[in-house]
This record gives sequence, structure tokens and C-alpha cells, in this order.
Amino acid sequence: AKDLGKNRFMVFETRMHEQLLSRLDQEARLREAVHRGELRLHLQPVVALPDGQVSGAEALVRWQDPQRGLQQPGSFIPLAEETGMIIEIDRWILLESCRTIRRWQEESPATAPAWVSVNLSAVHLDLPDLTDHVAYALATTGLSPHCLVLELTETVMMRDLAVTSARLEELRQLGVKIAIDDFGTGYSSLGYLRDIPVDVLKIDRSFITGLVGNARQQELVSAIIQLGHTLGLRVVAEGVEEADQLTLLTVMGCKFAQGYHLGRPQPPDELRAGLAVPALA
Ligand code: C2E
Ligand code: CA
Ligand code: CA
Ligand code: CA
Repeated sequence: AKDLGKNRFMVFETRMHEQLLSRLDQEARLREAVHRGELRLHLQPVVALPDGQVSGAEALVRWQDPQRGLQQPGSFIPLAEETGMIIEIDRWILLESCRTIRRWQEESPATAPAWVSVNLSAVHLDLPDLTDHVAYALATTGLSPHCLVLELTETVMMRDLAVTSARLEELRQLGVKIAIDDFGTGYSSLGYLRDIPVDVLKIDRSFITGLVGNARQQELVSAIIQLGHTLGLRVVAEGVEEADQLTLLTVMGCKFAQGYHLGRPQPPDELRAGLAVPALA
């Protein structure tokens, strides 16, 4: 029995060891990926309602892994956040987004998105040089600050509100806009909407799924849209997958929507090729 226990322990230890190695291996591969230029920028269109024209785009990171193919952020962002690598990744996406949209606006002003929305992990709010870095990205690419939106999740509101508020105000002084991503999922009080300078609310996909045929959910979404508009905010509905959802949101007065029904995240060139075609030929 004693031997069996020992064996069990060894099996356990071996598994721990394997997990640790695999994590270290993953971490090393992600670090190399960043330096080898394997990250890719994808853009998902955000359309204006009711006309359905592309208004802006959200920047979403992908990893073109030579061994495993195109990786979605869910498979590497958590590790990147744990290890701090997210800072480098977000900075690359920010620069690449500003550069791409700026070039597009110069080359085809008629079809280019008017703005680009970039995700920032909450850890950036602890970095004193965040504002300088955003200013640098705007200056080197020439993108107008009004064309840049920075998306943060509600979890940043659970941090030191004074620090968060000061950082966001600094960013807004540059002329960039601040969006609250996944609005309604953060379990935070609404009090921050009084104290924190924000410009955009993105209603989380979980409120849009199941919207059709659920009166209670419709009232809730409608109330969020009204609240946002009353506060002078732009409201974007995320995760729109069906025409019926879009119709409901339009009737509710929602002015912006994003989701597979309207366009998938895709390489900038693909989105651009699609938009170059006149809507009604
Ligand atoms: P998010 O910021 O909430 O981005 C929206 C996610 O929903 C994207 O997933 C997008 O592909 C997906 N999506 C869009 N429309 C639909 C739809 O109609 N149905 C469904 N089911 N999904 C839809 P993705 O690209 O896999 O990104 C997942 C998350 O990873 C993002 O959620 C964001 O939190 C994070 N992320 C992505 N790129 C970055 C980045 O550059 N920096 C940071 N810090 N986080 C990022
Ligand atoms: Ca987002
Ligand atoms: Ca979101
Ligand atoms: Ca999300």
C-alpha cells in the first residue's frame, strides 16, 4: 500500500512537471511569436443603424502559429495577461490598427471606417506611460485622435476609481474615446458612470443572444440603450447574429451594431475589398 502511494505521488509529480513544462514551452513560443511577427490584426466592422453602413471597426488579435495555424485570442490572451506579455501585444495591435486605418482613410476616404476600436487589458492602467504610448501611436501614424476608441472592460471599475478616472481623463485629453466593453457583465455598480469619463457602451453579447421572443430581456436592453443615450454615450450592441435581432435593436433606437450577421473579424485587406464594392450596384 505504501508503494502504491508512492507511485501515485510520482504520477502526480510527473503530471505537474509536464504541465509546468508545457506552460513554459507555451510561454516561450508566445514570446517568440511576438518577436517573429506572427501576430495578425483582424478587423470586425461596426455598422451604423438603421442604414447599415460600416461606421468603424474593432481590432482583434490573432496568432498565425506556423505549427498550429491561426489561433484565436481565447487560446493565448489569458497566458499573455498572466505573464505581462499582453502589454507588448496590445501595443503592437494599437500601432498596427492606427497605421492601417490611417492609410485606408488616405487612400480611399469614401469607404474607410471612420474610427477603430482597440482592446486594452486592464493592466495598462497601472502603467504611468500609457498616455504617452497612445500619443506616440497617433503621432507616428498620423491618425486623428478622434478616430481612436480604447475598449476597457468593467473590471477596471473595480480597481482604484481615482486612479482609473485620472488615467482615462488623461487619455480623453488627447482626444481619444473610451468604451466600456462587455457592458452589463462586470457585476460592478452603475455608480462609475457618474464618476468615470466614458464615451461608448458596448452591450455584451449575452444580452443580445435570446433577445428575440424574450420580452423581459428586450426591456432590459431597451433600458440600457436609453440610459446610454441619456448620458450622451454612443451605444453599440455586440454579438448580433440574426436579422431579427438587428430589427429589434433598430426599433429600440440602437445606433450601432456589431456581430457575425454584419461581418466577421477578418484581415484588413479582405474587409477593405468587401467595402470597395458599392452597396447597390
Ligand atoms: P471582445 O473584446 O468582447 O471581442 C468580441 C469577441 O466576440 C471577438 O472574439 C469576436 O470575434 C466575437 N464576436 C463578434 N461577433 C460575434 C457574434 O456575432 N457571435 C459570436 N459568438 N461572437 C462574436 P475574439 O476575436 O475571439 O476575441 C475574444 C476576446 O479576446 C475579446 O473579446 C477580447 O476580450 C480579447 N481580445 C481580442 N483581441 C485583443 C487584443 O488585441 N488585446 C486584448 N487585450 N484583448 C483582446
Ligand atoms: Ca472588445
Ligand atoms: Ca465585448
Ligand atoms: Ca468579451
